[in-house]
Amino acid sequence: MQSRIQVIRGDITTMQVDVIVNAANSSLMGGGGVDGAIHRAAGPALLEACKVVRQQQGECAPGHAVITLAGNLPAKAVIHTVGPIWRGGEHNEARLLEDAYRNSLQLARDNDFHSIAFPAISTGIYGYPKAAAAEIAFHAVSDYITRRPQPEQIYFVCYDEENAGLYERLL
Ligand code: ADP
Repeated sequence: MQSRIQVIRGDITTMQVDVIVNAANSSLMGGGGVDGAIHRAAGPALLEACKVVRQQQGECAPGHAVITLAGNLPAKAVIHTVGPIWRGGEHNEARLLEDAYRNSLQLARDNDFHSIAFPAISTGIYGYPKAAAAEIAFHAVSDYITRRPQPEQIYFVCYDEENAGLYERLL
């Protein structure tokens, strides 16, 4: 049987899954890294959708997640979650990172999605140490899915070599 968790090397914007996760910032107004790549590939409809969410709900706090359409992406939707900014490890970073994964999975489930792709949240501009972040990602996702049948398929999409190596070892 194929594992419910798979590691992919590449660009999350090309993933043909029900929903991809964006490592957004609290403003939801786009940024660099994977956020910039997702907005470029999705087109202006994504920013418009983010603006509507922002008007309705305000900023998205670290650990929380919101969902929008996916514009021109192959995915059906985008879940925007905000990871913690690394500030040395004593500011609840691990808990917030775990929440970002868990709340994204819950939102995928609430929307009846079967497949979801995650980037390595917080490990770019937000500076979370990659090995520690990878362990939290695996632990949070494994823990969530053992008790729930949905989403059935989870992809960790690694864009940089270091994360790809770490994730492949953990798998
Ligand atoms: P954060 O602000 O949460 O740190 P970043 O976008 O800066 O978010 O980085 C998160 C991770 O996303 C990094 O490991 C980076 O290598 C990765 N990344 C950047 N572009 C892409 C992409 N197109 N697909 C998947 N992952 C990406």
